[in-house]
Amino acid sequence: MALFEKAPAKINLSLDILGKRNDGYHEVEMIMTTIDLYDRIELHSLAEDKIKVSLWSRYVPNDERNLAYKAAVALKQAYNITKGAHIKIEKNIPVSAGLGGGSSDAAAVLRGLNKIWSLNLSLAELAHIGATIGSDVPFCVHGETAIASGRGEIIEKLPSPPSCWIVLAKPDIGVSTKNIFKRYIHEARSRPVKEDIIQALYESDFMTLASSIENVLEPVTFSLYPEVKRMKEKMSKYGAVGSLMSGSGPTIYGLVKQHSKAKSIYNGMRGFCDEVYIVRLLG
Ligand code: ATP
Repeated sequence: MALFEKAPAKINLSLDILGKRNDGYHEVEMIMTTIDLYDRIELHSLAEDKIKVSLWSRYVPNDERNLAYKAAVALKQAYNITKGAHIKIEKNIPVSAGLGGGSSDAAAVLRGLNKIWSLNLSLAELAHIGATIGSDVPFCVHGETAIASGRGEIIEKLPSPPSCWIVLAKPDIGVSTKNIFKRYIHEARSRPVKEDIIQALYESDFMTLASSIENVLEPVTFSLYPEVKRMKEKMSKYGAVGSLMSGSGPTIYGLVKQHSKAKSIYNGMRGFCDEVYIVRLLG
């Protein structure tokens, strides 16, 4: 019997780096929310003790390097499971885009295998396993809207953002998250004021939210890829009330209230960017 699980992309409403930890990782603080752009995961339990991944993508491996594969193996090891699984992935989320596609696939596999193997684990327990795969996986296990801190494993739920439209523009480059974090230098710069964002979420205040979104990795990615900065400028020029790079980029998103505004931004951005999407929030 097949089980289907949606793996939604996320955007960062904020991304802040608080410092470097003794274990070599960065101490992060990220407010994230899920959007209605999904990968689709189909899961089949196998009697044989083996994990198999099938997908068609030029950019994503279908072997043990796949984050969905790693998630299944981590779950098996943590709970001594001797069954196997066939994981089929329909990839719709752009890869290496800052939208957390691989992390969301891993999270969806954890949620899905929890069901088909009747493990009855809580989301917190699944997120704990997810943290060993990647720093965005714990958030993706929970989904909706939350602030992730520590290495990304401490999750506090937040209210959903006010209803609005999001235009995503993904320049034709893939960005290595590792490389961007490595180049980040902690210095005086514009940082997110998380209290403003959190208050805007509690008060459902679209204008404050749109003017408070901030990502400290923007200058790093912009200096390596100036076209990403230009993309953000165009997003504002075409009418986005707020715009930001998601994750380590290169995807830029713009926020607007009306669908007609989203359409005109979409049409403007399509002039010089192949991958443009209009989506809604899920969180
Ligand atoms: P993040 O912002 O969480 O670091 P991202 O959205 O920038 O992620 P992904 O699309 O998750 O980037 O891909 C990052 C890398 O992970 C790519 O090199 C890709 O080949 C690899 N990868 C492994 N498994 C997957 C998967 N299931 N889906 C997408 N990428 C995967």
